[in-house]
Amino acid sequence: MNYFNSEYFTYNNNELFCENISLKDILKDSGTPVYIYSKKYFIDRFNELDSAFKEIDHTIFYAVKSNFNLSVIKIFADMGSGLDVNSEGELLRALKVGVSTDKIIFSGVGKTSSEIKLAVENDLLMIKAESEEELILINEIAFSLNMTARVGIRVNPDVDPKTHPYISTGLAENKFGIDVASAIKLYSQKDRFKNIEYTGIDMHIGSQITTVEPFVSAVEKLSKVFFMLKSEGINLKHFDLGGGIGVEYHNEKTFSAHEFAEALIPVLKKLDCKVFFEPGRYLSANAGILVAQVLYTKLNNKKNFIIVDAAMNDLIRPSIYGAYHHIQPVQINYNSKDITADVVGPVCESGDFLAKNRNIQESKRGDYLAVMSAGAYGMVMASNYNTRRRPPEILVEGFN
Ligand SMILES: *Cc1c(COP(=O)(O)O)cnc(C)c1O
Repeated sequence: MNYFNSEYFTYNNNELFCENISLKDILKDSGTPVYIYSKKYFIDRFNELDSAFKEIDHTIFYAVKSNFNLSVIKIFADMGSGLDVNSEGELLRALKVGVSTDKIIFSGVGKTSSEIKLAVENDLLMIKAESEEELILINEIAFSLNMTARVGIRVNPDVDPKTHPYISTGLAENKFGIDVASAIKLYSQKDRFKNIEYTGIDMHIGSQITTVEPFVSAVEKLSKVFFMLKSEGINLKHFDLGGGIGVEYHNEKTFSAHEFAEALIPVLKKLDCKVFFEPGRYLSANAGILVAQVLYTKLNNKKNFIIVDAAMNDLIRPSIYGAYHHIQPVQINYNSKDITADVVGPVCESGDFLAKNRNIQESKRGDYLAVMSAGAYGMVMASNYNTRRRPPEILVEGFN
């Protein structure tokens, strides 16, 4: 088998460490299953993206939905990051961490009136509207509060992000955003929306996008809209290109922050306005792992099963997206042979697996296995299915 190694999760004497802390030491206290995050990873990725775009006026809004742990949100807030929130709950988390409301933007295809009210009352930097009916409601709510809501329309640019269909959002067939022609019409109906100030234009074409081309073509499409509006006297201050930057789970060829910047800066520069980014996965996926302990192993009809104490309720990505997560032993034993096995959890569903037909070191009851790249869309999607406890989360600050 091969091992997913990084400077944040690395083997010392065949034993896996997070930063410079032994996982076994953590596991003694935490038990399993447990999520473990490297603080430095979050910081390094943020700085990397931020500095790649230093040439242009920009703000990064960490997408809270990828990992909503308050301590994680605080790491970003402390670095001056803005936050992209998707619900009342995420907005309350952002406020709890103490992020100022002019650094929060609100997304979501189906905001309720109480969510919109909360957003307007808090005078957020931008509310992203995804339908004409939503604009009408935002306007009504802002009117009733005697306020003006800052709004950006989420435009669906109809480009193919070439990712898993469940996480593609920028195609005409997807539920997200407003098509270009309707968006232009709505932007120009200023008199209809007297309690709305149009401050921006927004897109988010999907997640786990591994090439820059879909971003470039979507930004080009939206730039046209941006300039068309400008020619009609509608001057937008913010151009929000959403999140979706792909990461490496399993030898994917992704692009670096530098390559991303190189491809986009020429187009973005022309806009001469402030650019927003909303990365989630890019900042959090490889910051975290889920550690499980082997409960049983068995050979059934010539198939090996490794039954661990983590399940689909802890990490659902393999079950819903067929997502690949590298799984490797916390303690490498070079005397053990490799086998092909399904790594499965205790939940009463055949869809409860973390890996299928995986080449992995033969393990035995009591061994610890690390499920890599689990920092994004891991804990945030955890549930209490089968009345299982949700796993604890540990943030490691081991490099000083
Ligand atoms: C999910 C989401 C993001 C973050 O997506 P990633 O793929 O994790 O970068 C950003 N913006 C919006 C509107 C989203 O829905």
